[in-house]
Amino acid sequence: MKQSIFLSKSRYIRALQCVKSLWLKTHKSEVLDTPDDNVLTKFSTGDKVGELAYGLFSKGVKIEFQNSTFEEKCQLTKDLIDQDQEIIYEATFSYRGIVAMVDILQNTKSGLIINEVKSSTSLKDVYLDDCALQYYVLSNLGYSVNQVNLIYINKNYIREDELNLDEFFIVDDITQQVVSKQRQVEQNLIDFEQALALEEEPNIDIGKQCFHPYECDAYTYCWDKQRNLCHHENIFNIARLNQDKKFNLYRQNIINFSDIKDLSMFNAQQQIQIKACLNQEIIINKDKIKAFLATLSYPVYHLDFETFSQAIPEFKVVRPYEQIPFQFSLHY
Ligand code: SF4
Repeated sequence: MKQSIFLSKSRYIRALQCVKSLWLKTHKSEVLDTPDDNVLTKFSTGDKVGELAYGLFSKGVKIEFQNSTFEEKCQLTKDLIDQDQEIIYEATFSYRGIVAMVDILQNTKSGLIINEVKSSTSLKDVYLDDCALQYYVLSNLGYSVNQVNLIYINKNYIREDELNLDEFFIVDDITQQVVSKQRQVEQNLIDFEQALALEEEPNIDIGKQCFHPYECDAYTYCWDKQRNLCHHENIFNIARLNQDKKFNLYRQNIINFSDIKDLSMFNAQQQIQIKACLNQEIIINKDKIKAFLATLSYPVYHLDFETFSQAIPEFKVVRPYEQIPFQFSLHY
């Protein structure tokens, strides 16, 4: 296979989600949204969970991300494997421009074991694709890969005095699923290379892929700049209307509220929203409000509270990602 593009795991996953996203990232990255605080927090949580998982495989050597080129990282990884280093964190490999960094690599006498760590509490399809690319790179470099494990968080774990890593993490052997994807990886790489060679961006319309598996950072560009869909009066902003229905309407060219001919396909609340926008009127159901207020008797308490959650629980009897109230106000 003739493969000469630069492709990391994250760029590969981006392309699987939408090849236009990869094209934009490569040729027009200035249109992409900068990551917001939520995205940055997710990255940071991922890093922390990844480092915590090192504790499952002690005495490893880490290939540091800073202060060296990819070529140097690959060479260092190769040297460590040749020297029979048993555990390597962030082991780095490159095959024809495809770079794969393995979170935790086990170098055993019978072959290599890839361990991919995720801060999620479930095994998602996108992780299989991520690992399939790692397997593709390592096996094409001539390494014998015996096993691929996905390590993720056990949502039922309850912390005691100390964090118990063996109970906190779940380790799933996903070797078979990863091996079965190898042909597809090869084909995908050919397709992505062809798409990247295009002078114009691929003609791909918005769709459910814009949000799955991740919210695409070309959202503002595709939805707002190209389709002008970020204003309020369109079907994508109808409250509690599921995504399938929204895209069904979109494909029938029913996009703006003014395109809607039959209101009966929407529930009562949605009809209020559409009518209020179309007629520029404020709709207040005074009878319902009065009926509700009549159910109250003094003293009336107003409770508000805030919560936070942690992937790695710092407190006893708390589960991963459990909502922990930390502040409240009660007015009466
Ligand atoms: S916003 Fe949607 S259509 Fe645009 S690049 Fe991203 S996934 Fe593709």
